[in-house]
Parts: sequence; structure tokens; C-alpha cells
Amino acid sequence: MAYLNNPPKGWLPPFCPNGNCKYHHPLPDQWRYKKFGSYVRISDNRRIRRFRCLHCKRTFSTQTFSATYWQKLPELEAKVFSKIVNGMCKRQIARDLEVDPATINHKTKRLGRHCLLFLQRQLEGTPPAKNIIFDGLETFEFSQYYPFHHNVAVEKDTDFVLFFNDSELRRKGRMTQVQKRRRRELEKMFGRPDPRAIEKAVTEMLSEVINGHDPINVYTDDHTQYRQPIRVYQNLIFHHVTPGKAHRDANNSLWEINLFDLFMRHSSKNHTRETIAWSKRRQASSEQLAIYSVWRNYINIRRQKDRWSPTPAMERGMMTERLTIADVLSGRIFVRHVELADSWRDYYYGNVHTRALPLERRHRLAYAE
Ligand SMILES: [Zn+2]
Repeated sequence: MAYLNNPPKGWLPPFCPNGNCKYHHPLPDQWRYKKFGSYVRISDNRRIRRFRCLHCKRTFSTQTFSATYWQKLPELEAKVFSKIVNGMCKRQIARDLEVDPATINHKTKRLGRHCLLFLQRQLEGTPPAKNIIFDGLETFEFSQYYPFHHNVAVEKDTDFVLFFNDSELRRKGRMTQVQKRRRRELEKMFGRPDPRAIEKAVTEMLSEVINGHDPINVYTDDHTQYRQPIRVYQNLIFHHVTPGKAHRDANNSLWEINLFDLFMRHSSKNHTRETIAWSKRRQASSEQLAIYSVWRNYINIRRQKDRWSPTPAMERGMMTERLTIADVLSGRIFVRHVELADSWRDYYYGNVHTRALPLERRHRLAYAE
């Protein structure tokens, strides 16, 4: 069913694309639809076939099943994807591609949503990971008064990104008197983050990565908020704790997550240290992390200096070869066909709230959900 722009000859719609229709999920009894004319797409003058579902009467076209459905410039998607994971910020991408910055924002959001579904869909039915490292990668949104963790779980043997979410933190560390006063004012206006945010995020992460009955190894640093959620799974987890202060070299058992941190900061402009392109919103940072994780797992090779190095997905036995961006973007994934964790649902629907911002644009549920 996969295609980027143009379906192959003889392609037939596999199910009704209307999420509210009985035939949205493939059913054993026969779904009926009929041909409903065609139109010529302006961007490339191609004829697009239309159909009508005989159950819900909604019309749709071959494009409804393409990852670039309803897009004026379909080829832009792949270019934006590549530039996002190769260290360009959104404004630079807009200048480079000579389009409006708002277009790049919009494309990045779409790509982020697609990548969340792609990550989840690909993991369905694969063997559970046996050795997992997780850690909180510290960054911030809006300003340095709003630090947060991207909590990331990586498979130790393959570098495969299994899951991520985020937790808001209170600004800590060395501050001047002026900064302390400012923090007090801001907290009075916008409230304080949940002091147990990390614990909650780790609870969700564990429920996502543990899906077998055999005990697994979990490697973390000595953060106190990890203890309680891990204790819940005491029969299923061997917990290996490495002091957070220990030198993180290749001999450290948290090395792989450090590598992830280094390489993500190198590849994603919003996480580069001392950058002026930091994420204004945690929501946007999570969308970009989804894109980055797809690239890390399926497209990019594991070891940069070895050209024959496999991708993490190949190491896991999920793929026999590297995917291209076009492969990843070929074929729309429908959100109601995928079961997302709570935090990923929030990322998908744009529900992550940035304290310092009063009005935020959410992704509205429409045909193009
Ligand atoms: Zn229908």
C-alpha cells in the first residue's frame, strides 16, 4: 500500500479513509466503494482517481492514502526531513528552500506526526528489547527558566530508540540573585512543574518498553525518581545503576545513551549547545525528536565511519536494508490504526502546553487528522 506521490498501476484503496466509518478498519465482510471520476493535480499535472465509499458516502482519492495528502508541494516533505536531521534550524531551511518559514513549521509538524505513527507501527509485533538504557537528556523550552528532560530509552545492543517522552523541570543550578527573583515571579504567574514529573514519565516509559514476560536489564544513572517506578516491576527488571557523576566513556554502561545524546545534539539544531535556535515549545521539540528517531533507527547507519554498518533496525532484525526518506514517507498511516502512548497522543494532537505561552495552536481534528 506504500507510495510517496503516485500509486502504482492497478492500486486499489484497502479500506475507507474516513475514521468514523465502519469500514475504516479492515473487516472480513466486503467493503464496497465505487469509482467517482478524477481530477488533475495542479502541482504536476497528473490525473488523480477519486472514489466514493458506499457505506458512509464520503469521497476520497488515491491521494488520501499518500503521506503527502493535501499538500501543495509534495516533494518539499522529503527535503525538510533531510535538513531537520542534518543540523539546520527551521529558518535556515526556509531560506535554503526559498519558502515561507510558516510552511516549514507546518511541514515539520506533519512530518513529526507521521514519524510518531511510523515508529509505533514498525515496533508492533517485534520481539521485546532485553537490555534497555534510559536517561533524561536535559534541554529547555522558551527560555532557560523552563528546563525539561527528554527521557529516552535506547536498546543497549543495537542503539535502537525504543521510546521517548518529556518531563518539565524546575530551573536549578547556579543563579544570580536577579535570576532567583525572576524565577519566583515567573512561577507565581505560570505555576511550577509537577515535582514528580520524571517519576510519571518513567512509569509510562516502562509500560511501553516492557512487553514480554522474561526479565530484562535496565541501565540508568542514580536519579532518585527512577527508583519507585522500577520497583513496581521488581520481578521483571534487573536494575543496573551507574552513578551519574561517573565518567561517561565507552566503558561506562550508559555509553550508548550518551552517544545518542551527543549525536542528537550534533544533528538537531534546536539541541545544539549555545544555539540561538532552541525550541520555543516542548511540543515542537518532541515532533523533531520523532523525526530524528526515525532517521536514527531506520535511515542512518549505526557507525558513521563504517560504510557497511547496518542501521539499528537491521541490527534488531526488523529490516534487511536501510530505508530511504522516500520509503518512510511512502503511504499515509492512519492514527486510528495505531495505538499511541498517552504522551505520544499529546504530541500527535499538539496538546503539550508551554507554561509561558498563553495561546497555542493545536492540531484540529478534521479530515486530515
Ligand atoms: Zn466509509
